[in-house]
Amino acid sequence: MGIVAKFGGSSVKSAQAIERCVDIVTNFPEMDLIVVSATYQTTNKLEHLTFELLEELHKHHKNMAFYLDLDKSIHQEIDATTEMAKNLLEKKEECELLSWQDQMYCVGEMWSSWLFYGAISKKLNRDVEWLDARKIIKTDSTFGCAIPKVDLIEKEVSQLSEKTLYITQGFIGEDKQGRGTTLGREGSDYTATLIAAAKKSQAVVIWTDVPGISTIDPRVDNQAIVIPQMSYKMATTLAEHGAKVLFSKTLDPVVKLNIPVFVKSSLEPNSPGTCISNQSPEGNFGLAIKDKFVTFVCDNAEELEMEGIVDRGDNFLVFESENAIQLARDIHQNLIKDM
Ligand code: ADP
Ligand code: ASP
Ligand code: MG
Repeated sequence: MGIVAKFGGSSVKSAQAIERCVDIVTNFPEMDLIVVSATYQTTNKLEHLTFELLEELHKHHKNMAFYLDLDKSIHQEIDATTEMAKNLLEKKEECELLSWQDQMYCVGEMWSSWLFYGAISKKLNRDVEWLDARKIIKTDSTFGCAIPKVDLIEKEVSQLSEKTLYITQGFIGEDKQGRGTTLGREGSDYTATLIAAAKKSQAVVIWTDVPGISTIDPRVDNQAIVIPQMSYKMATTLAEHGAKVLFSKTLDPVVKLNIPVFVKSSLEPNSPGTCISNQSPEGNFGLAIKDKFVTFVCDNAEELEMEGIVDRGDNFLVFESENAIQLARDIHQNLIKDM
């Protein structure tokens, strides 16, 4: 049992943000494994890494370690990780690009998980261990969007101690030949649910920078309303159609096991957030935007007829516009006007 938690890049973007996460963990003694993403924008920078950028990223993580007053051993891990990135950067031309990129992506996840581990182990009075995600997230060799090997993951996870709080990385894995892989950009949510399914956890909590899944991206319309309860199917449809708040495959491992997934804000930990399970209250709806398409998701989409539908499924209708953001905002305003 226990709870698997995942902290996204914006939740660990600064030393102060990590301190907020530490407080959250202190208040959730049921957490027994934590997946930490690379700090905000780090993975994007690693994608286009230069020696100058590496120096900037190194300083950023070292400054965080100094601010958090972490042990010398954590500083050494950060330095060693930077050294690894430097070596990788030097041999970029000799490597196959996607495989090289997956190895480079590991660097961001290493830096942040060492910082998080350092900060947590200083504060928490329980057994805390840093865990290399590549030891448990076994995948095929599709670099850039590797397919997890669920049986192997289950076997590795069964070796973990039940008494320890593990701190591990997001979205990275390893293939049969021991080469670094990734589950796809933004895939740390998926790491959390894969591990939770293997552990038969009680719940997963995805800590992010918004207070749950809303009727629309709150950056698109600030009148977005947080949806307290949502079905796996609705959340997956929203994610597949562009709602960035969840990686599209996140719920696949937990649906059959009926493990609830909560989406909560690390900035407002006391607000209830969204609970994703097999319960779906009537009248729920959400909008997602991808390129020039706006998808309206609701359980009774089959019964609806509207002008301008370009695609549909049993729980969604798709509309198209050169200004998809404006279209989504207009549809959203119309929908909430009667609420
Ligand atoms: P993290 O770094 O924690 O993984 P992400 O940036 O991947 O965070 O996801 C959170 C972002 O998802 C929010 O900042 C928000 O702009 C965006 N988002 C898109 N659609 C929605 C939605 N329907 N509800 C809430 N947030 C959404
Ligand atoms: N750090 C990775 C990325 O930015 C994984 C994640 O954040 O989910 O894609
Ligand atoms: Mg994300």
